[in-house]
Amino acid sequence: MKLKLGLVGIGKIARDQHIPALEKSPDFELVACASRNARVDGVANFTDLESMLAQVPQLDCVSICTPPQTHFAAALVALRAGKHVMLEKPPAATTRQIALLADQAAQRGCTLFQSWHSRFAASVDAAREWARTRTLTGARIVWKEDVHHWHPGQQWIWEPGGFGVFDPGINALSILTEVLAHEVCVETATLSFPENQQAPIAAELRLRTEAGVAVDAEFDFRQKGDQSWDIELHSTTGSLKLSQGGATLTVDGQVVAADQGLAGEYPRLYSRFASLCVAKRSEVDWRPFQLVADAFLIGERRIVAPHQV
Ligand code: NAP
Repeated sequence: MKLKLGLVGIGKIARDQHIPALEKSPDFELVACASRNARVDGVANFTDLESMLAQVPQLDCVSICTPPQTHFAAALVALRAGKHVMLEKPPAATTRQIALLADQAAQRGCTLFQSWHSRFAASVDAAREWARTRTLTGARIVWKEDVHHWHPGQQWIWEPGGFGVFDPGINALSILTEVLAHEVCVETATLSFPENQQAPIAAELRLRTEAGVAVDAEFDFRQKGDQSWDIELHSTTGSLKLSQGGATLTVDGQVVAADQGLAGEYPRLYSRFASLCVAKRSEVDWRPFQLVADAFLIGERRIVAPHQV
């Protein structure tokens, strides 16, 4: 029997990816949605999570697609109601919130899937295999996109806890921490804040692995024309490039795999959530979030031109 799922926060990612993935899922049935302004045809709709939980008690699980500033409160309510919870990235607004949610899930015997959709991109597994069987000499992340195109009207990204350019940038860090054999730390960071906003529009990070290998990362929300979601890894015996956010894999200059991007990630994400729910296990890895938090902690701050949302 399919798990009955309630979706919270019907915005861009819920409509673009979650609902289509759920429609085709062999594991889940979307039975209810909670969103202040939006409705989804064919399911029970509520304007808040509490009403959804009260009026659809048969829900097995809740998937949260609201902005990160609201994740903690929503996930806590759902876990306290005994539901399994899947959280969109970034998982929360503060590091402590993630730890408390993990504790709550363990106490309730519920699953907390603190998801990183980019880790389910088609070529991430192959990149991990490649990286772990070579001696790395360097790595580079270039994650540059046009915020007006990809995040139209999303004021929450620019508010405290909205992450700015790290909203997409954390996806690159989720892949990096998944594929590298060694842990990484932030060594230096420069964050560029528009003078009228509370979150960075661009950032440059120098990370370093435990083995001493430098990883340079550039994140920019002001990219026009070609967009870049690329990670390059260099080793003593060749190089690898993950592009299109992990969908395309190039090894030593030859494209060896190409897939459909985000649309391929979400069915795999929900499949993982289903297996975690059945096993009553949680998956919580907040290393990408720690790297972003550390960039905010030690980053130099530059003020740049104002940005209109
Ligand atoms: P979005 O288009 O702004 O949708 C989020 C929805 O959450 C809103 O439409 C809103 O619906 C609801 N909401 C509840 N509380 C809110 C608040 N305080 N401020 C604003 N909206 C609130 O955002 P999104 O792009 O779907 O992103 C949501 C989450 O998914 C983020 O964590 C983001 O990082 C992640 N994500 C986004 C993408 C992408 O390509 N956009 C990709 C992967 C992951 P109501 O007004 O109806 O309540």
